[in-house]
Amino acid sequence: MEQFDVVVIGAGAAGMFCAAQAGQLGCRVLLLDNGKKPGRKILMSGGGRCNFTNMYAEPAAYLSNNPHFCKSALARYTQWDFIDLINRYGIAYHEKTLGQLFCDDSAQQVVDLLVKECELGQVTMRLRSEVLGVEKTENGYQLALNGEKVSARSLVVASGGLSMPGLGASPFGYKLAEQFGLKVLPTRAGLVPFTLHKPLLEHVQTLSGVSVPAVITAENGVSFRESILFTHRGLSGPAVLQLSSYWQPGEYVSVNLLPGLDLAGFLDNQRQEHPNQSLKNTLALHLPKRLVECLQTLGQLPEATLKQLNAPQQAALVDLLQNWRVQPNGTEGYRTAEVTLGGVDTNELSSKTMEAHKVPGLYFIGEVVDVTGWLGGYNFQWAWSSAWACAQALAAQGR
Ligand SMILES: Cc1cc2nc3c(=O)[nH]c(=O)nc-3n(C[C@H](O)[C@H](O)[C@H](O)COP(=O)(O)OP(=O)(O)OC[C@H]3O[C@@H](n4cnc5c(N)ncnc54)[C@H](O)[C@@H]3O)c2cc1C
Repeated sequence: MEQFDVVVIGAGAAGMFCAAQAGQLGCRVLLLDNGKKPGRKILMSGGGRCNFTNMYAEPAAYLSNNPHFCKSALARYTQWDFIDLINRYGIAYHEKTLGQLFCDDSAQQVVDLLVKECELGQVTMRLRSEVLGVEKTENGYQLALNGEKVSARSLVVASGGLSMPGLGASPFGYKLAEQFGLKVLPTRAGLVPFTLHKPLLEHVQTLSGVSVPAVITAENGVSFRESILFTHRGLSGPAVLQLSSYWQPGEYVSVNLLPGLDLAGFLDNQRQEHPNQSLKNTLALHLPKRLVECLQTLGQLPEATLKQLNAPQQAALVDLLQNWRVQPNGTEGYRTAEVTLGGVDTNELSSKTMEAHKVPGLYFIGEVVDVTGWLGGYNFQWAWSSAWACAQALAAQGR
């Protein structure tokens, strides 16, 4: 049976980075993945350009049952450390918006960087390798793979969450945690579009493809100011994806379609200057024409000129456009979600090393852990930071 210091399960962002670092620090590492190629989600990420980190990454941008857990790893391996690595490989990048850093060229460059880092660490990478079973032994762990058995002193679980099953996502990591008596918090899809009930959906479908800047607020008061996108299934766009992580089934969200505008004041001014201008044309100065027309078919927009619009009608319109209350039917689920909320309970792990308190030598990193970032490069940064913290501990153990 082949023996290693460390076996890492999952050649995604966290697994590859951890394997590379631990290898470079002197560990003999085996990296396993059930897919044909490493870093499949990285290749898909950021529309093929990989939003590999965020300049403003900080603990407040992460959801977890224990919001303090991510602090140590994020502080020890920061976005600037990963940016240094990107620079060392000469990968050109740009800030798209809100501190989000994307490759100028292709996400493949980030995968190539990680593969090269693994080579430098003399990591043995085995693809199309399914882990069928794991047993604890006196000296560590024994793994049954398809066709062979391997053993290692330490085992790192970097098998990700449930989002996008088409890219190899599996509940493997959660099951393994439970096998070793660790608590797993309920999981749900995050960074995911909302679906809507009929008849609202039928109207929203007519707006499919229309995007507007908005502020969207959850019942718990969390809000995001970015754009929302009307789709043939409901609502999407960065603001909606962000908010979905804070939304619970049955709750309402409120949408301000004209953020930063004193709509009542604007209508009053326009009324003074252009009393005979139609309400429709006035609103079209700030909203896409298709959205205004949709409001009209919905019967929400009086067929009136500004001087005909009475005070209650104006108040109702301001409320509709700046506090539109929507009750999503649900989300599109793991099929399109970018991340999985919940996962291995952080109370079970050391925030310094990612090792399970009650199972020495067993580590969990990346998305399988109950730490989920906002949209915008935060999730990869958690993958890098948690992987780095784990690798330091693996190397320290080997010394
Ligand atoms: C479409 C899409 C776009 C995204 N874009 C961004 C972005 O631009 N920026 C950002 O920060 N985040 C983005 N994310 C989120 C980000 O991809 C994840 O947070 C990140 O990949 C998590 O890394 P991970 O290594 O923990 O898990 P993963 O990258 O999911 O890797 C886990 C690996 O484990 C393997 N595996 C699972 N079970 C087994 C098993 N039993 N045996 C062997 N191998 C197994 C899987 O095949 C997979 O390769 C995006 C996600 C998606 C789905």
